[in-house]
Amino acid sequence: MTDTARSCPNCGAAVTFAPDVISDRCVFCESALIAGSASTEHADRVAPFLVDRNAAAERLTAHLAGQWLAPKHVRETRSPEKLKGVLVPFWVHDAVARSRWDAMVGVHWYRTETYWVTVTRDGKTTRERRTRVVQETEWFPTEGTHGATYRNHLVSGSQGIPEGEANALEPFDLGGALPYAPELLAGWVAESPTIPRAQAASVARTELQGAEVNAVRAFLPGDVSRSVDVQSTIDVDPGRLVLLPVWVATYQWEDEVHRLLVNGQTGELVGAVPKAWAKIALVVVAGLFAAALLVAFILAFAAAVQ
Ligand SMILES: [Zn+2]
Repeated sequence: MTDTARSCPNCGAAVTFAPDVISDRCVFCESALIAGSASTEHADRVAPFLVDRNAAAERLTAHLAGQWLAPKHVRETRSPEKLKGVLVPFWVHDAVARSRWDAMVGVHWYRTETYWVTVTRDGKTTRERRTRVVQETEWFPTEGTHGATYRNHLVSGSQGIPEGEANALEPFDLGGALPYAPELLAGWVAESPTIPRAQAASVARTELQGAEVNAVRAFLPGDVSRSVDVQSTIDVDPGRLVLLPVWVATYQWEDEVHRLLVNGQTGELVGAVPKAWAKIALVVVAGLFAAALLVAFILAFAAAVQ
């Protein structure tokens, strides 16, 4: 198989087109591609598309149906031929986390308080004794350890899909991934990793540190907490490279390229749909016109009955 490797000077994606896929535009940002060499690092596993082109288009249609303020260009992305199937590289890590934490934990308790009010009844003013229940919080310092094993943590290996967008596309089912074989790429655009292995490991470490903080917060005793401090050591394995299926729909809007992504396994859709200001203006003008018409009608009716 003689692949053509090209890279995008705009977003940094490096794509490999199988001989049966011809394109000179970046699948992520529509920039003109330049000749480049694909990374020699090839994927360990490839997860095939489970959502086909038509199903992905239907997913887009359903999403855009409720967004009639979206520009025409965007609404056209629903057509199946505008969708590009891309096998996107992700780094997969297993990790072991060990954390020490300390926090102030608050436990609520309740006391009954007595207070006096001035009551005037039948012209007579008296002082009356009342009671009410007041919530108090007792604070205790606590500390402990937390350990966890994280499996199959994903980090985008593509400069074309930033980590935040990749996280929104997840989860992917890695159980459906097959050992790498060139035939699995036939008919698809395959992207080479442009986020290096070491950088991905560091992203994984940062994300798992966040996961540890959430895990500690979730099991803290008491009713409330404050000053939660979590110190974690995260051992991340060297990572494996998998290609995961993503449908990409790009569209031009006000000189910028936007895109919608559909998870090729689950149909999960990611991406913001802009609103066409011309359409919003039209709605406002139509509303004002209807209001003016109503006023004119009322005035004419009032004049007629006089
Ligand atoms: Zn690009």
